[in-house]
Amino acid sequence: LYNSLLKHEKMETVSHFAAAVSHELRNPLQSIKGFIQLMKEYDYSREKQVEFHSLILKEINAAEDLIDDYLVYAKPTYGQLEPITVSTEVHHVLKIMAPYANGKDVKMQIGDMDETAEILVDRQKFQQALVNIIRNGVESMPDGGTLAIAAKSSPAKVWIEVTDEGVGMTKEEVQRLGEPYFSNKIKGTGLGMMVTYSIVSQMNGQIMVDSQKGKGTEFTLEFPNIATFEKK
Ligand code: ADP
Ligand code: MG
Repeated sequence: LYNSLLKHEKMETVSHFAAAVSHELRNPLQSIKGFIQLMKEYDYSREKQVEFHSLILKEINAAEDLIDDYLVYAKPTYGQLEPITVSTEVHHVLKIMAPYANGKDVKMQIGDMDETAEILVDRQKFQQALVNIIRNGVESMPDGGTLAIAAKSSPAKVWIEVTDEGVGMTKEEVQRLGEPYFSNKIKGTGLGMMVTYSIVSQMNGQIMVDSQKGKGTEFTLEFPNIATFEKK
């Protein structure tokens, strides 16, 4: 029963992912091709060859990063939905993200946390959605700050809130969230939020965004409380 939810949306998501990732992979592959062609055309010095090698390696790593970030979580199989305890996953994700946040002088703080709230999700994808939002929150505070996470529930819904004190967004920027390749970052992919929106909607959830330019942003993920499934 659980896995029959929103199948056609999942199909759309998969082709979305495929298009986005193959587009992104094209860049490193093109560079690699270019370097290899160059090396064939002329008998470069050993020094120059070593330089080409390391550039090629850099591009291969970039392609690998992309695959790690996006493909692992876009398995074409229908993700298995399972009951998870929100607080357990939040703690886990914060642990994963701690080194990254520390490196950017961001303190991650757990606010009011409903310790018992449960939802029905694909655990890995749910973690990816949270990671992407937290990463953006951290990146929105170039001079450091606090990122807070809280969770609460009602009999019908569960809410997870991620709040930062970062650069914030205009109304127009908020509207563009989730659009493929929308990014204001020098090295951004503009795919993180697309992935997150797809995942959350696959799992019958919704994303609410409250942001103020120069002040900060609050992302709220809303999911059906697991109790609403169990009653059926
Ligand atoms: P990327 O992080 O690679 O730029 P995303 O899809 O993750 O791509 O985010 C798209 C854009 O949305 C970001 O470049 C940024 O402008 C904006 N954004 C997302 N989250 C936040 C946030 N917490 N604070 C400010 N801006 C944000
Ligand atoms: Mg991002």
